[in-house]
Amino acid sequence: MDCDEARQLLDAYADGELDLTRQLEMEAHLAGCPACKEEAERIASFSLLLRTNMELYKAPRNLKSKIRSTLRKEAEPAWLFANARPLAYAFAALVLGFALAWTWLTFYQNKDQELVTEAISNHARSLMVSHLVDCRSGDQQTVKPWFNGKVDYSPPVVDLTPAGYTLVGGRVDILEKRPVAVVVYQRGKQVINLFIWPATRRKVDLDVQSERGYQFCGWNQAGLNYLCISEISGDELEKFEDQLREHVSL
Ligand SMILES: [Zn+2]
Repeated sequence: MDCDEARQLLDAYADGELDLTRQLEMEAHLAGCPACKEEAERIASFSLLLRTNMELYKAPRNLKSKIRSTLRKEAEPAWLFANARPLAYAFAALVLGFALAWTWLTFYQNKDQELVTEAISNHARSLMVSHLVDCRSGDQQTVKPWFNGKVDYSPPVVDLTPAGYTLVGGRVDILEKRPVAVVVYQRGKQVINLFIWPATRRKVDLDVQSERGYQFCGWNQAGLNYLCISEISGDELEKFEDQLREHVSL
């Protein structure tokens, strides 16, 4: 197993999803490759962080020490004794407000991170195990009805051939523990996985970014979340998003 192959399988390895042969090959590779081992540990600690969630609710250390020092000052019979107590309360309330905002923000950033990590794994796996599509067709009239009964909503399947994106087909994948529709496009040799699901729990809104060599972006439109992952350039992915948004709103 070489580094490229190991990198592609690291997520599956962290999730304990590799078969025994693969797992042994991976362990052998990690034993001899510090770079991949470090990446494997990073992925493992990240998923542990998400699983425990505890870390997300802790205030940062400097906020804690500010609260403590405020309380200490309040206890001292200081020269501004008359004003110290209300000031301390006001400050504590302010600090608490910041801590809550920080927790909230971190929580949602981590939710997005978790979602993107999962979607990237799905994308990588779809390319790896020849499970790109369950319904292979370049005809939107074939792909769209194929989703009936497989997911409980109707994902838009648009023809972007004139814009240079070929429809490859559709499949059902799992994201955030629910089945989601994936419409697959191709630009040249590169595949674009477009995940579509109802924005009931949370609305996705992510500018074009890149992670581990993949570009991704997400948005919500007419009650549906869209998340696309590909290895095409960020600019091209943004064009794809623009084209798609335009066609969906027609
Ligand atoms: Zn390696």
